[in-house]
Amino acid sequence: MDSEIIIIGAGPAGSVAASMLARMGRSVTVLESATFPRFSIGESLLPQMMEFLEEADLLRDVVQHGFQYKNGALFARGDELTSYDFRQKLSPGWGTTYQVRRDQFDELLAKGAQRHGANILFRQTVTAFTPDAERPSLRVRDENGDERTMTARMVLDASGFGRVLARMLDLEEPAAFPPRMALFTHFKDHISAHDYDRNKILISVHPENHAIWYWMIPLANGQTSAGVVGEVADITAAGATREERYNRLLHESGLMGRLLSSGEMIRDIGEIAGYACKVKHLWGPGYVLLGNAGEFLDPIFSSGVTIALKSASLATKAVDRQLNGEAVDWDADFSRPLIKGIDTFRTYVAAWYDASLQRIIFNQPRNAGEITRSINAVLAGYAWDDNNPFVRDPVRYLNLLKTLCA
Ligand code: FAD
Repeated sequence: MDSEIIIIGAGPAGSVAASMLARMGRSVTVLESATFPRFSIGESLLPQMMEFLEEADLLRDVVQHGFQYKNGALFARGDELTSYDFRQKLSPGWGTTYQVRRDQFDELLAKGAQRHGANILFRQTVTAFTPDAERPSLRVRDENGDERTMTARMVLDASGFGRVLARMLDLEEPAAFPPRMALFTHFKDHISAHDYDRNKILISVHPENHAIWYWMIPLANGQTSAGVVGEVADITAAGATREERYNRLLHESGLMGRLLSSGEMIRDIGEIAGYACKVKHLWGPGYVLLGNAGEFLDPIFSSGVTIALKSASLATKAVDRQLNGEAVDWDADFSRPLIKGIDTFRTYVAAWYDASLQRIIFNQPRNAGEITRSINAVLAGYAWDDNNPFVRDPVRYLNLLKTLCA
């Protein structure tokens, strides 16, 4: 046996799970196909995620790095602006977090996991997997193209959009949302503190097509990540090339386009499409799926990394108990609690795209203190807090609010 636990992928889910398990005294090997640092999309974090970094003893690494502070979100549609401050939230816990360059963030987490004793092997690509309740095994190809077999007592798939086990074990399920596309890049932004509060992500809605929206995520060192998201047909209709589409849509964005008008683009425009994904089940004999390797909903509420770390937190506790010889009910102890929060976000994502949530956001009833605090908690990532009525019964409470706002 190579290690008690093998983790596929050293993104946030993999490194945080590795750190948690190493701190439990488990031997962990992480197999990562890339070399770090490497670019990744997903730069706006949520305060709920800080709790999981704390649990993995990785919070100090992140706090000390000097990432851009984040305390909320500003929503814009034409001249309408609504600001949400995550610190004014119903759920207890962190109210602030960071906006990060993921090449730096992911490398930091990987180094932290190594410090806690995890063995991370880079340029190692998992090419095959054999499930087994006692001794699952993997085929791994190294940087020279040589293949070997590795075995463990448990395999955690944290391969993100690589979706290694979902593909190999035919676990893919159609996602609930239609295929959407995102175009994105980084700017040296030249935005002054007077013009924009860098502590907030800016989410803008296209003035004529509510199904197109934009993110502007100020980063440290005067840089900003700026992207546009929409249905594939709407994005491709905006021009013949990626550059044409991006520039035209940025121009139409309103506030974001104005803020970035003197910015310099410092990355090629990236594109990702059809990213929403799902699986039939999140675990099986000798394996469990974490983060995007399981399900990814949509970027609108920046929930990806938070869900990835929640999955790491739940799975590592169950793995540790199982390796101690205790009985683990993977549905009750892992899948259902995880999916509960994913389902909360799913309701908000669906309400965003049918525009009902946009109506709520831009027409909130006045003096809606408790309601705003409840919505702030969800936007801050506290999607598992049943004390919040907007988490306990999101469909009912969003519908009520829709009526109030109408
Ligand atoms: P990843 O971060 O994808 O890491 C997976 C790792 O596995 C990679 O390093 C990869 O190299 C490795 N790997 C893959 N295949 C193999 C293999 N065969 N063998 C070995 N290693 C392998 N989330 C947010 O929280 N905030 C945001 O603002 C946000 N914006 C987004 C915008 C867009 C357009 C999209 C599409 C997503 C966004 N997300 C955002 C989601 C976020 O990117 C992911 O949820 C997050 O990166 C998931 O982390 P992970 O650890 O599951 O996977």
